[in-house]
Amino acid sequence: MFDLTGKIAVVTGGSRGIGRATSISLARAGAYVLVNYRSNEEAAAETVRLVEEAGGQGELLGFDVADPESVERAIKEAVGRHGGIDILVNNAGISIDQLLLRVSAKDLETTWATNVNGAVYCAKACIRPMMKKRWGRIINLSSVVAESGNPGQVVYSASKAALLGLTRTLAREYATRGITVNAVAPGFIETDMTAELPDAAKQGIVDQTPLGRIGRPEEVAAAVVFLASEEASYITGQVVRVNGGMHV
Ligand code: NAP
Repeated sequence: MFDLTGKIAVVTGGSRGIGRATSISLARAGAYVLVNYRSNEEAAAETVRLVEEAGGQGELLGFDVADPESVERAIKEAVGRHGGIDILVNNAGISIDQLLLRVSAKDLETTWATNVNGAVYCAKACIRPMMKKRWGRIINLSSVVAESGNPGQVVYSASKAALLGLTRTLAREYATRGITVNAVAPGFIETDMTAELPDAAKQGIVDQTPLGRIGRPEEVAAAVVFLASEEASYITGQVVRVNGGMHV
């Protein structure tokens, strides 16, 4: 439906879950996808295989988003190989769930390093190549809990709310350069991140979701592909909520 032929996309955390589904969907729309992973090379290689199976093209791009030098180096090399980066999906994320009284400084540092600093480092590394082409798309994966809050997700929800501020500011900073910046805020999606929740907690979430079910990674990927497309050219600084009506 949307045509991304000729676009070069980076998907951080593309080895699993939403990042994997997004890599496949972007590739199916015609983008060449650089599938980033931190540690799980085998899983990321499986994503590249699935990209190819879907008729698309891509390659591995290993780096830790929390390490600014690795980000800079890897993106620079990728720009050298492919002539630019058109689409950045800041998807890599972690969740350390704690009530406030149990939150440690380490929980904060670790979560922020990946979820917030990582998105800033990746955007910073990609922005010049995008400015050069006077075209770019940055899509940040936030979360429903950034806006609704959720007991036990103090650090995670704060980090995902920080991404909304980042999204709005970058949208304003780079609009005149032909670069749009938006956020996608998923609700409860079936991935490794949510796999360990007890069945009772999952049922509680389903009960609060008007569409009455858990979401699929592909349903989040569809929103990313739209925001990456030419058809979304007049949308910037926005939050697209993919949550089954859980928070309206
Ligand atoms: P997931 O299944 O846990 O996968 C996380 C991905 O992030 C993996 O590919 C992992 O790579 C990568 N990653 C983690 N730290 C990294 C780092 N420092 N550098 C590079 N990559 C890193 O997560 P998911 O459920 O697909 O979630 C994807 C995004 O959507 C996250 O930002 C999450 O917060 C957000 N989200 C998810 C849900 C949900 O219900 N699942 C809801 C709202 C928002 P490795 O495999 O190499 O470790």
